[in-house]
Amino acid sequence: MVVLTGLTELVARLRAEGYRVVGPTVRDDAIVLDEIQSADELPYGYGVDAAPGRYRLRRRGDAAAFGHSAGPQSWKQFLHPPRRQLWTADRDGGSFTVTEPANPDERLALLGVRPCDLAAIAVQRRVFGEDSDYARRIDQAFVIAVNCTEPAEVCFCVSAGGGPRADTGYDLALTELANSRYLVEIGSETGSALLSQVVYAPAEPGDIATANDQIRTAENRMSRALPDTDLPGLLRRAAESPHWDDVASRCLTCGNCTMVCPTCFCTSVVDTTDVTGDHAERWQGWASCFDLDYSELHGGQVRTSGASRYRQWLTHKFGTWHAQFGQSGCVGCGRCVAWCPVGIDVTAELTALAATSDIDQPVPS
Ligand code: SF4
Ligand code: SF4
Repeated sequence: MVVLTGLTELVARLRAEGYRVVGPTVRDDAIVLDEIQSADELPYGYGVDAAPGRYRLRRRGDAAAFGHSAGPQSWKQFLHPPRRQLWTADRDGGSFTVTEPANPDERLALLGVRPCDLAAIAVQRRVFGEDSDYARRIDQAFVIAVNCTEPAEVCFCVSAGGGPRADTGYDLALTELANSRYLVEIGSETGSALLSQVVYAPAEPGDIATANDQIRTAENRMSRALPDTDLPGLLRRAAESPHWDDVASRCLTCGNCTMVCPTCFCTSVVDTTDVTGDHAERWQGWASCFDLDYSELHGGQVRTSGASRYRQWLTHKFGTWHAQFGQSGCVGCGRCVAWCPVGIDVTAELTALAATSDIDQPVPS
């Protein structure tokens, strides 16, 4: 392990290598992810106060660059874009020609990927598969993880298995120490090669101990947790629970939770034509299981009530995702809790379901 002082040279080196560097920065009273031209654009000195239905920036008493928890966006906006063209078709006499857009060749450098978001990237990669644009984008990206030392009140990555320490899936992993110093762990040959081009110092034992202490403290600070029970089994048994109506009485079915969730992947497609009818386009865009039309089959929508749509979201995320992808669909980032306008908290709803004794029992055979 080594120590970097400041990130100026690292960002400049990545840009010189042709990467488009994306990292956290302050905009619209939030920490957002955007292209940065230099390390000066990182959100030095900003922290976040988050709670169910609440997110506020605050000034810290120091100049930490990563002293904040997850913002409203995740890296999925770069790896699984909110809107993308699938193909165009042009009339050609009595026939037509279909053209697919070229595969993206942009090389992204993702700076500041939290362990929960690393886990989310791994989840989405599994969803989309190895022969996908998603896998190509992440394979050609340079990933700089940042171990979490500042969980928000809404975070629960420890119980969801998403953090707070990055263990795989990065080229370099940083732990922020005091005074703009960063302990660096190397995760790949690409990371090692890039690091060899910047000035660093060997890590002292005290630096490593401090980093470990900070991550351990973050872990111990995480008070929110998923109920310690078989969630897929619980959700199977809870299919007819009256608790879904209770949630539905609060839920606005706005879909915010699915938009901010770093693992939600659903899309729909829209076809358009120009007025001549000679040119057509097909676009894919993010969709939400909270949209009424999302469950449209022949003859109408299947999930017409808010209760059925909330049940679908929670049951897929924490239950049937296991059967479909062999793991949970939640990494515990807490975004859906903070960005739900009415403060609905998945950990509280699951706990309420688990506490309903008549449903937390094995189904009689
Ligand atoms: S369900 Fe909520 S806490 Fe879990 S990964 Fe999605 S946004 Fe994060
Ligand atoms: S749970 Fe919250 S964020 Fe999700 S659809 Fe309902 S009101 Fe919107």
